[in-house]
Amino acid sequence: MTERVIPIADQRYAAALPHIPTLPIASTGLLADTLGRPLRDLRISVTDRCNFRCGYCMPKEVFDKNYQFLPQGSLLSFEEITRTARLFAAHGVQKIRLTGGEPLLRKNIEVLIAMLSELATPDGEPLDLTLTTNGSLLAKKAQALKDAGLQRVTVSLDALDDGIFRRMNDADFPVADVLAGIEAAERVGLGPIKVNMVVQRGTNDHQIVPMAQHFREHLGGKIILRFIEYMDVGETNGWRMDQVLPSAQVIARIHDAFPVRAIDANYTGETAERWRYADGRGELGVISSVTQAFCHDCNRARLSTEGKLFLCLFATQGHDLRSLLRSDYSDEQIASAIGLIWQGRGDRYSELRASQQADTGSGAKRVEMHYIGG
Ligand code: SF4
Repeated sequence: MTERVIPIADQRYAAALPHIPTLPIASTGLLADTLGRPLRDLRISVTDRCNFRCGYCMPKEVFDKNYQFLPQGSLLSFEEITRTARLFAAHGVQKIRLTGGEPLLRKNIEVLIAMLSELATPDGEPLDLTLTTNGSLLAKKAQALKDAGLQRVTVSLDALDDGIFRRMNDADFPVADVLAGIEAAERVGLGPIKVNMVVQRGTNDHQIVPMAQHFREHLGGKIILRFIEYMDVGETNGWRMDQVLPSAQVIARIHDAFPVRAIDANYTGETAERWRYADGRGELGVISSVTQAFCHDCNRARLSTEGKLFLCLFATQGHDLRSLLRSDYSDEQIASAIGLIWQGRGDRYSELRASQQADTGSGAKRVEMHYIGG
């Protein structure tokens, strides 16, 4: 049965109209895609807006004052997001990550967090509810997020050097305010806190050791610093392979300064490779989508701000769940449609990129990261 592809009103990304299977696909929590990967992690973008303009995600020259962000009416409401998350939890999702753009810019996000914190897995376990932020509003909001039911936060911070950081976020935002946000999050108990640094060779790679040193010495070494290889996400960041510093070199630099040893993953599908300082002063990680692809156990789905389901960070087409949510379909029918989509998933872009088989010639636009979250 061929799926009808209907370009949606704003033409941003093609989205297939999901098919409702005649035979319902039960929500057993055991769903698997064509590569046997379960559905365990749902990333929900709650806004396509951000107050930063990081060049590797939302370069200012593209996302300038004339850029048309999504109109309010096209965003999924908190009720629609919660309904969708509940259907995904029944299919096996155990972790919800709220992303953006910058999720703390979404008005009353605490209300959404409180609604999502009520959800549970089929065995009655609470979902692991977390959020990724650029930290700009965290100092102010940390307590309210915690009180609403958020469990953990991940904060993006690409440099300690204020000049470099301001240049990279291109919004002239100071490091000190992000560090204050991290301290506030630690104080209210939103840990273990992870700090993500995107490493761009020639831009901030000389900040690797200073960042490691800082988080070894602050907050009792409890912050988990992760170094992310610069990725060719979307179509606007001008990515080149020579700007990528392979994680193996990142670890080598840190090991020269502070000896480290590899430790086991916390769970299957964890994106970060884990390392621990030999002197016990904390843990760090590397996320190596370019040089050590981890598609083989990728169990992540992504929901865009306006309800399109994407099955890979590098996808070129989504599935328009909002059209189902705003129709008379029952939960069972929508859950079946989600099941069918996941069962048909075969995405493994990073593996294909590594073997130069990625289909970059088709002209189809890869989705932008600010639209579906990292
Ligand atoms: S490239 Fe796609 S399939 Fe591979 S790990 Fe990333 S999101 Fe998953």
